Amino acid sequence: MSIRTRLTLWYTGLLALILLLLTFLIYSVVARTLLANLQERLVAQANSVITLIQQENDPLAVMLSGRARLPSIDAFGSQYYVQIVQLDGRAVQLSENLQGRRLPVPAHFLQDLEAGRARFVTLQASGARLHVASLPIPIGNQFVGVVEVAGLMDSIDDALAVIRRTLLSVSALALVLAAAGGSILARAALQPIKGITETAQQIAATRDLSRRIPTGVPTDEVGRLTGTINEMLGRLEASFDTQQQLVADVSHELRTPLTTIQGNVDLLRRGAADDPAMRSEALVAIGNETARMRRLVSDLLLLAQADAGLQLHLQPVELDTLILDVYRQGQLLSQGTGVRVRLGAEDQAVVPGDADRLRQLLLNLVDNAIKYTPSGGDVTLTLKRQAGWVQVSVEDTGAGIPSDDLPHIFDRFYRSDRSRARPGGAGLGLSIARWVAEAHGGQLEVESQVGVGSVFTLYLPDAHRDDQETSET
Ligand code: ADP
Repeated sequence: MSIRTRLTLWYTGLLALILLLLTFLIYSVVARTLLANLQERLVAQANSVITLIQQENDPLAVMLSGRARLPSIDAFGSQYYVQIVQLDGRAVQLSENLQGRRLPVPAHFLQDLEAGRARFVTLQASGARLHVASLPIPIGNQFVGVVEVAGLMDSIDDALAVIRRTLLSVSALALVLAAAGGSILARAALQPIKGITETAQQIAATRDLSRRIPTGVPTDEVGRLTGTINEMLGRLEASFDTQQQLVADVSHELRTPLTTIQGNVDLLRRGAADDPAMRSEALVAIGNETARMRRLVSDLLLLAQADAGLQLHLQPVELDTLILDVYRQGQLLSQGTGVRVRLGAEDQAVVPGDADRLRQLLLNLVDNAIKYTPSGGDVTLTLKRQAGWVQVSVEDTGAGIPSDDLPHIFDRFYRSDRSRARPGGAGLGLSIARWVAEAHGGQLEVESQVGVGSVFTLYLPDAHRDDQETSET
């Protein structure tokens, strides 16, 4: 069942319930009021008859003789029927208009009446509905008989029938109008959702993620939904593009080593295997390219794990010791490049961290610095503690990074045109470095000036932040 039909049904059903309750309430209040009104008149008439009896010379005798003759009870005319009975139910006098018939008042009323309590009943007699008020007749301090005055219910029944008919027909009309109006309103309210469905179907059919759903009023519920879906489409499009780019980049990066390996294998097949010098050259080339591919694949794997939310296992790491280690490895890496790796100011610092990942990050920075610094340049490592943070800088006096490249160097597979000329990296190193920094609750920042050099600074939360603050104050 569609939302529109459900909404309309609910709406109409609820209204029907309200109207039914209202009809019932109005009907019963009017019915009670009219009946109370009639009862009041009947009681007044009965009291007049009681007064007449009491005004007799010997009212008790009149009652007991069973021969009351009160001509005035017929004065009430055709409107009311009056009967006076003794407590045992025997008739004393009946009004003319009863034409000798008795009002069939239930016999068990007499007990109540004997005790002085009035009783009322609605009954059917000779094809008419009557309401009867029975009142005990007090004489002295006892009750000696009963006056029963009956009135016709037909005017009340007629009035109630008119009210019933009117209320029911008005309710039915209101329900029809409400159902039609509700259905139209529901359709208007759900119209934008139809638009969303259609656009989504078109996107599914054409696989065109650049399409967006037209937004109506951006602040209402549907507008917000549309906005959210459009935002989601934007992200999907971006991630789809990234995915495609990634596949293209990975294939591209793998092609070079694979071509080299293939070339060397062909060379070996064509006879180079027999020449020890050529054979070892070919095997070295194959080994290098294989190592490069393995690095690339393990970098990609790490980034995929990072995307999937890989959590690092953090333990206290003595950064000063770690940096000494990186410094020594940097010296080894710089051998033969003419670049000097130096150790600058070094505070003692402990951070919560993953030592292997931090080493990988810093080695990457040092490796880049050596790679992009010409012979005779310097690469300096420093470690400082400041304002609750530990800062590790890798500063070089190299080529620097053009400001156009600067915002992109942390992107996956990004390599400046200049560095593309060099073999080696695949442009994943800095993406991994930034992820490691962020996974430690830190940051990796860069400042660079072409021709002067670059400074990469890693900020990590200081494990002894509180001690430092106390010692500073
Ligand atoms: P890769 O070094 O494999 O190319 P990275 O992600 O480590 O990839 O670096 C991305 C790019 O940032 C490099 O291609 C290079 O253009 C630039 N870059 C990184 N470090 C330096 C540096 N110290 N000096 C100059 N350019 C750098």
